[in-house]
Amino acid sequence: LKQQVEQQQTLNSIGQMAASIAHEIRNPMTSLKGFVDLLRLNSNEDHQNYLSVMDSELQRMESILTDLLYLSKPKQRSYEETSITHVVKEVIELMIPHAIQYNVMLKMDDSNYCPISIMGNHNRLKQMLINLVKNAIEVMCSGGVVVIKLENHDGGVEVSVIDEGTGLSDAEMDQLFTPFFTTKATGTGLGLALVKKVIEEHNGTISVESNIGIGTTFKISLPISERQYLRHEDDNLIEMWMSH
Ligand code: ADP
Ligand code: MG
Repeated sequence: LKQQVEQQQTLNSIGQMAASIAHEIRNPMTSLKGFVDLLRLNSNEDHQNYLSVMDSELQRMESILTDLLYLSKPKQRSYEETSITHVVKEVIELMIPHAIQYNVMLKMDDSNYCPISIMGNHNRLKQMLINLVKNAIEVMCSGGVVVIKLENHDGGVEVSVIDEGTGLSDAEMDQLFTPFFTTKATGTGLGLALVKKVIEEHNGTISVESNIGIGTTFKISLPISERQYLRHEDDNLIEMWMSH
């Protein structure tokens, strides 16, 4: 146990350091991005190409920093009424350029969904869904459709991200949510670690179903109200108490 506690403390201080570095890097990056935009306004075609590479690399750095910052923040417990339909619409709009690059179409399927609000954190739910949709797009090497499906479930909401991508092996399945696990040449392995954290904050659950060569579905279930959070909290307490 002592070793575990020490390990956790080391992880925490690494997390804090990562967070402050990420934070410090953001400002100079913003100024770099500003100058790239400025240069794009008047340069020749060659330079335009370089500048658009610089722009997309800056965007990549930005998303790595966002994941790192979110991951190292303490658990959020401030919730407001949140419409998942809004979250999904915003995410689709944001991800369209990325989808086009991969020849992928993004579709929302709310045909069986009666809209409700849940108690949640809009920004963090949005970041979670961005990460799932981004992964779905990135495994569709020959294009196709990514569906984000909304359903009612047990008074709460179920969100499925369904892709027609490469699928996952059993070994990959086991490691999915481990921080820094990635099979991509330029991946960070932070995306799904963040997904897991946000779901835990909302006392939701996630399940994954995958078939090699056919595709993968990530299904998230979010409870509706704070009362349910409290009940889950009680369950955890009872579990902790029983395991002692
Ligand atoms: P990254 O995207 O930077 O690799 P993630 O944590 O988002 O990090 O994902 C970790 C790994 O999980 C990916 O590298 C990939 O191997 C696997 N993965 C995630 N989503 C999918 C998916 N929809 N289909 C197949 N594999 C996936
Ligand atoms: Mg990812």
